[in-house]
Amino acid sequence: MDYLPLYHKLTHTNCVVVGGGSVAARKVKLLLAAGAFVKVIAPELGDELRARLAAAEITYMPRPYVDDDLSDAHLIIAATNDEAVNRRVSEAARASRLPVNVVDNAELSSVIFPSIIDRNPVIVAVSSSGKAPTLARLLRARLETFLPKRLGEFASYVGRKREEMKAAGRKLSRDQWERLVDVPPEQAEVTFAGLLQEDVPLTGWVAIVGAGPGDPDLITLRALQLLQRADVVMYDNLVNREILDYARRDAEQIYVGKKRAFASTRQEEIHDLMLVQARAGKNVVRLKGGDPFIFGRGGEEIASLTDEGIQCIVVPGITAALGAASYAGIPLTWRNLSQSVRFVTGHRARGSIEIDWNDFAKPGQTLVFYMGLFNLPEICGRLVAHGLAANTPAALVENATLPTQRVIEGTVSTLSELATRLAVTGPSTVIVGEVVRHRQKVKGSSSGEAARQSWQ
Ligand code: SAH
Repeated sequence: MDYLPLYHKLTHTNCVVVGGGSVAARKVKLLLAAGAFVKVIAPELGDELRARLAAAEITYMPRPYVDDDLSDAHLIIAATNDEAVNRRVSEAARASRLPVNVVDNAELSSVIFPSIIDRNPVIVAVSSSGKAPTLARLLRARLETFLPKRLGEFASYVGRKREEMKAAGRKLSRDQWERLVDVPPEQAEVTFAGLLQEDVPLTGWVAIVGAGPGDPDLITLRALQLLQRADVVMYDNLVNREILDYARRDAEQIYVGKKRAFASTRQEEIHDLMLVQARAGKNVVRLKGGDPFIFGRGGEEIASLTDEGIQCIVVPGITAALGAASYAGIPLTWRNLSQSVRFVTGHRARGSIEIDWNDFAKPGQTLVFYMGLFNLPEICGRLVAHGLAANTPAALVENATLPTQRVIEGTVSTLSELATRLAVTGPSTVIVGEVVRHRQKVKGSSSGEAARQSWQ
C-alpha cells in the first residue's frame, strides 16, 4: 500500500491554497465542504474564487506565495500553473512536516485527493495512488450508481438508533445490524421495530419493481440496487431474462409467468408465494414488465401483502408505451396536434373492450393500446365506426426496445391486415394518432440490430 487512506477532520482548521484559478477553486470547494477556514494566496483570482471572496467564504492574500505563508496551516494545497512555485510550496511544507498536496503531482505531494462519493456521513474514497486518476474517476462514477442517494440519511438514522439503544441498555447483534443495512431506507423504521421484538420472527420486505419494456439498460438505478439486495426474485414472462443477471448470484429466481386463461388463479398463487417468502424473512423483488402500476396488477399485489402486514415498496419502470414510442421514434405528443396521450387496454373484459369509443375516436389525442394485438381488427374498426378518420396514421411496435423490435406503420384501416401479413406475434403496442406521421429517424436508441430493423 503506497498510501494509507485516512479521513481528515478539517472543521475550523486553517488550510492554505496557493493558486487562484479553477483548479484551485475545485480544491477550495472541497475544503469548505469539510468545514475548513481557507486562505488563498495568489496574485489574481479567477471568477469562481472571486465569487467566494465576495461571499466572504475565503480569506485572500493578493500576492505571490512566500515561504513563511504556511506557518499556521493544517493542510496545504499548491494549485498554481507554475511548476517552480508548486515545488517551493511542497518543499517548504515538507520541511515543516505539514501535509501538502500538489494538484496532479503525486511526487511532490505527501497527501493525495481520492475521488469521493459523498453520502455524508458515509464517505467513499477511491484512489489509484496517483497512478491512474481516470480509472479512479470511472470507478467512482460506477460506485455512485450502486449507492442510493439516501444512504447518508439512512446512516445518520442508524447512528441515532445506536445511541438510543445504548442509552436504553439494549443491544442488537451484528446479524441484526446487517439486516437493517439491507432494508430500503423508507422501511428502516418498521424493520427496526421488528428487530426489537425479540421473539417475533423477522419478516422480509417485498419490492414490486418495474423492469421496463425489455432493454435491460432501461431499468432504474433503484431497481438495480434492490435487485442486488434481494434474496428472491420473482419475475413474469414479459421481463427480459437478462435483467436477472443484475441480481445476486445466490438469489433464488422464481418464474411466475401467467397464461391468459388462468390469470386469476395464478394471481392468487403469486400473492401467496410472495407472502410465504417474506414471512420466511426473505427479501423479495417482484419484477414486472414495464411499470407495475400500468396494466400490471401491482396495486392488487401490494394490497394482498399490506393486508397481511408485509412491508411493501413500489419502484416505477418505463412502461411499454414510452419504450415503444422512444425506440420507434414516435413522439407521443406534438404541439397543436396531440394534446393528450391515453394508455388503453385492448383486452376484452366480459367479451368486449369496454371503453367509450366516441370519446376515443376524437381527434387531437394519441392513443396507445396495450394488449391490443389480438383484438386489433375490433379496435381499429370501432374507432373508425365512431368517427375517427380512416386514414389516421397508426403504428404497431412489436418487441419494443429489444433487438427483435419491429415497427409497422399504416393507418387505422390498414394496420390490422399488415400485422397479420407480417406475422406479428410478440408483445405489441399500438400507437394511433397524427403523431405517427412525425416518426423521427433517430438512431442509437436501441441496439444496432433493433435500430437497423426499425429504420429500414
Ligand atoms: N405493466 C406493463 C404492461 C403489461 S400489459 C407496462 O407498463 O408496460 C402487457 C402489454 O404490454 C402487452 O400486451 C403489450 O401491449 C405491452 N408490452 C409489454 N412489453 C412490450 C414490448 N417489449 N413491446 C411492445 N409492447 C409491449
